[in-house]
Amino acid sequence: MGHPSFTRKQATIINVVAGGLLALGIVSSMMQSSSEGGLSGLFSAKSSASASIGQIDTDRIIAADSEPGNWLSYGRDYGEQRHSPLTQINAKSIKDLELAFSVDMYTTRGLEASPIVVDGIMYMTSSWSVVYAVDAKTGDEIWSYDPEVPGDWARKACCDVVNRGVAVYEGAVFLATLDGYLVSLNAETGEEIWRVNTLIDRKRPYTITAAPRVANGRVFIGNGGGELGVRGYVTAYDTQTGEQDWRFYTVPGDPNLPFEHPEMEEAAKTWKGGEWWKIGGGGTVWNSIVYDPDTDTVFLGVGNGSPWTRTIRSPGGGDNLFLSSIVALDPNTGVKKWHYQTTPGDTWDYTAVQDMMLADMEIDGKPRKVIMQAPKNGFFYVLDRETGELLRANPYVTVNWATHIDMDTGRPVENDSRDFNKSGKSKWILPGPLGGHNWMAMSFNPNTGLVYIPAMESPLVFDVDHDFKATGRYKYIEGGWNTGIEFGRLLPLLGEHPDMPANKGYITAFDPLTGKTHWMREHSTHWNGGTLSTEAGLVFQGNGDGYFVAYDAETGEEVWKVNTYTSTIAPPITYAIDGEQYVAIQVGSGGAGLTDGSTTPASSKYGNFGRLLVFKLNGGQSIEEREHWAREIPEPPKMELKAEAIDHGMEQYHEVCTFCHGIAVIGSAALPDLRHMSEQTHRMFKEIVLGGVLEDRGMSSFADRLSEKDVDSIHAFIVARSWQDYEVQEAAKKKVAAK
Ligand code: CA
Repeated sequence: MGHPSFTRKQATIINVVAGGLLALGIVSSMMQSSSEGGLSGLFSAKSSASASIGQIDTDRIIAADSEPGNWLSYGRDYGEQRHSPLTQINAKSIKDLELAFSVDMYTTRGLEASPIVVDGIMYMTSSWSVVYAVDAKTGDEIWSYDPEVPGDWARKACCDVVNRGVAVYEGAVFLATLDGYLVSLNAETGEEIWRVNTLIDRKRPYTITAAPRVANGRVFIGNGGGELGVRGYVTAYDTQTGEQDWRFYTVPGDPNLPFEHPEMEEAAKTWKGGEWWKIGGGGTVWNSIVYDPDTDTVFLGVGNGSPWTRTIRSPGGGDNLFLSSIVALDPNTGVKKWHYQTTPGDTWDYTAVQDMMLADMEIDGKPRKVIMQAPKNGFFYVLDRETGELLRANPYVTVNWATHIDMDTGRPVENDSRDFNKSGKSKWILPGPLGGHNWMAMSFNPNTGLVYIPAMESPLVFDVDHDFKATGRYKYIEGGWNTGIEFGRLLPLLGEHPDMPANKGYITAFDPLTGKTHWMREHSTHWNGGTLSTEAGLVFQGNGDGYFVAYDAETGEEVWKVNTYTSTIAPPITYAIDGEQYVAIQVGSGGAGLTDGSTTPASSKYGNFGRLLVFKLNGGQSIEEREHWAREIPEPPKMELKAEAIDHGMEQYHEVCTFCHGIAVIGSAALPDLRHMSEQTHRMFKEIVLGGVLEDRGMSSFADRLSEKDVDSIHAFIVARSWQDYEVQEAAKKKVAAK
């Protein structure tokens, strides 16, 4: 790729200033005219850990309750309950909760980070793995670090160029970058201490969006890429030197090669037939890794299979360990203690990577140390974290792929009437691939005993790849999605299932022991933010409608809300400095780009302007009101559109483009909605898709994937879809004018 002319921060500022995502052509020509080299100088700066700043160690995280003013790690402490002891902001005082300051995150892409606050400094990430250290009282920038992720790496990311945050430990800040590096930075200056490549094969579509976790001198990191086709693993590195300590693979590799560790021999017995290793097998640990000081265990949340369908991956059946499992390892050696598989033989993208939390509870009269998770498959699991014993498994959303979990075997009882493999017919499945709950953090209040889950019901029609059905062979697509599922024919398949329910999103207060939903509130979109619980009996959540809301933890009553004019997906945190409690949240939507077009999130109404918002009592600031962003579809170009080309384009679009640009060309706010392309962008369509002129922005060339005929057809389909919606828009305008 060409060297970026502007730094990513500059480019995104220009992008925002230039009116967002519509000014594609103008921005790209501006970008080519500058010759500045950006922040590349930082790569040569070698430093050591700070001796005074960011002095978090394992004992300090264990004792986090003794310093409630700080938020020391991803989920506050090792338990990751996201429950803060702070009570200054409570049911009585919350009426005075106001914005104290905001920080521009210089992005219109997704923001997913959970900030860390230690001794007055906040460390957080933005999109493209950029790190910021800011004064937690004012938002003033102390330093920033841009790893300069190459623009073409965005194509390897299933779900936007997001990042969920850093870890801080003994004077260093640990960042995992989208392109697979783990970096240690001086917590005081942001200078690089070390940087290691975590990827076993840089040609494979690996990405990292997770926050690393640290304990006892080790930093743990996994990766993602299950949709495109990779093999999952987790690596532990020495925090001081960056040297690799151990690596644990989550699925077996080529059976003709020696097993990397004994657990792979155990796992390989559960994979039968097929050539999964060519596609990768999956099992990526792309989100949750939790360390438990009580049992000295590190828990991995393991993802779905590559490809999604077991029929292709492992045609002889089998559980396909350790897909969709919680795996408990000895953190000193990487040797497995136990595992629990939530979805044996996963076929539905049912990752078990969702945030895990640790708690001590009395269950059936016995004190238990538990680990809890609400994975994508729709069941909420409570396991004994010393033994892996299954204690509870109840549905927390509507589930139709299985009837229940058999508590004797610990296995789901699958619903045969929804089996699209055996029946050879497409079926709509709940939860869909977005899960009953995704990476958005849940929280737990030990006083109410309730878990506050950003839950959703987002079904999808599943059908096995038609080539595979016809020939029994699956063609691996290099550089493309390899789900083995019919995305190309998604629109006609949806047409066959008019009974499929619409997307829904909730916050639910779920009792992990009884399996009862104590209360729930429905949002108008399915894609909402993580939650925060506080000792004052409050639950905070930002949602897709644009509101940041506080609920009564017991009743679900809305006790406070503010319009942020942007959709939220990130989780809030809370901290205190000089006797004042703050609540902080990153706003700005993104992530998985699949849209259903039935709702309009705030980011589509007002623009997706990424910011950190920080509130305190009598903060004195207010959030700037935004006008409804009437983004009219411009008149599409007049061109001859052949039905055959539109059909071919529709299939190619949904195979290749839909994951970022949305089903039926209804885009999310974080990435361009192609119905809004300007005349110039239409003219440049081929230069963008095949020539890669917007590579720096994440839209690299698809010349390896698409022919000129494919691109013309995709363009024809987009133009046809644009005309469709343009005419609806114009008719509605005429109707208004006639009144
Ligand atoms: Ca997945």
